[in-house]
Amino acid sequence: MDDVAIIGAGPVGLALAILLAQNGRSVRVFEQRSVPAAHSRAFGLHPPAQQVLDQLGVGEAAQRHGVQIRGGLGISRGRSIAAMDFATIGGQYPYVLSLPQQSTEQLLRERLEQLAPGSMMWSTAFEQVLKQSEQAVEFAAGGVVHRALWLAGADGVRSAVRTDLEVGFAGRDHRDRYLMGDFPDTTGLAHTAALFLHQQGIVESFPLPGARRRWVVRVEQKLADDSPGTLAETILSRTGYLLDPGTCTMTSYFGTATRMVSSMVHGRVVLLGDAAHQISPIGGQGLSLGLADAQAAASVFAAGAPAGSLDDLRLAAARSAARRAQVNMLLGRALPSWTVPLRDSVISSLAASAWLKQKVARSFTMTSPGQRTIPVA
Ligand SMILES: Cc1cc2nc3c(=O)[nH]c(=O)nc-3n(C[C@H](O)[C@H](O)[C@H](O)COP(=O)(O)OP(=O)(O)OC[C@H]3O[C@@H](n4cnc5c(N)ncnc54)[C@H](O)[C@@H]3O)c2cc1C
Repeated sequence: MDDVAIIGAGPVGLALAILLAQNGRSVRVFEQRSVPAAHSRAFGLHPPAQQVLDQLGVGEAAQRHGVQIRGGLGISRGRSIAAMDFATIGGQYPYVLSLPQQSTEQLLRERLEQLAPGSMMWSTAFEQVLKQSEQAVEFAAGGVVHRALWLAGADGVRSAVRTDLEVGFAGRDHRDRYLMGDFPDTTGLAHTAALFLHQQGIVESFPLPGARRRWVVRVEQKLADDSPGTLAETILSRTGYLLDPGTCTMTSYFGTATRMVSSMVHGRVVLLGDAAHQISPIGGQGLSLGLADAQAAASVFAAGAPAGSLDDLRLAAARSAARRAQVNMLLGRALPSWTVPLRDSVISSLAASAWLKQKVARSFTMTSPGQRTIPVA
């Protein structure tokens, strides 16, 4: 019998497996896919997430492969109306590290294989929980019955573990939708994230490793044509930057929603990461939140502490991240043109306050005092 069985080899499941293996616990990770996911989603690793990566033993490699986002610029009608320097937050990592999710997952898989060879079970989908007692949980995956002291559902937004336990996922869809794509960086913006506050909707641009940039464009509805050409045209019309569609390596459309479980703990089954809380990717906090869940769950399992304590800490963190994401989405919505000068002058005057700028930088980097994670026991 394993100490902990983990459903889902996304970043959260892998992080939990590593933390437990480092503590001498036996773990197995059950993944429905037969090969790693190739789709590019999260790339922003906030300072608390970088600290978790250090604890996982992959921090140095992540720093080597990633690129630092050292600050941000708010741009409207062709001029900068606010600038933010993440150096003001201090600490070991005064920047957001940009590293595509596939690369983060690869580093985590390699580390897990070092610590617990053979613990990854590919092509093994979770089916159902069969029985729970005070000591153990029995479940079916890949057509076979397994037993573990604990079962962790880290199987993403459409969690089969959550569905099987009939745990509600309350919340709502938002009207904010986006088209994103990766292009070579021809902007000269280097380590700076740029937010183009266009009247028809925001365009965000972030550095990626390999001299590339991710562009995220707010759209009113899913476009009939979401090709690189359409994306590049929208970027040109809202920012003035001319990108070559032929050099685009990925486009993807996404909607947004906020949903959460009312408890992450259900007997000896714990829900973590996106399985427990879905927040809008705008502000890019989901992965960082999930890594902190893994850290908190590992502490609880290691200390034999009551698992219920996870709810107070982690659902509160998810609620606060969801609020920040909603503010970010609101800032990016289309506006009547007559309100734009007024909005710009409000932002410019707020940005003149060094105190406020530091507060906003802390919020963007998930380093405000209320957002801190807890150390592993
Ligand atoms: C467009 C976009 C951009 C984003 N950008 C950022 C960002 O910059 N920064 C950030 O912090 N977050 C970002 N996020 C959010 C981030 O991607 C997620 O929060 C993160 O992937 C959650 O990790 P997870 O391990 O909980 O779930 P997932 O990454 O979804 O992994 C779940 C795993 O479980 C497996 N699985 C599912 N069902 C089963 C089953 N029945 N049996 C076995 N395995 C199963 C899946 O195959 C998958 O491998 C973004 C999200 C999107 C959509």
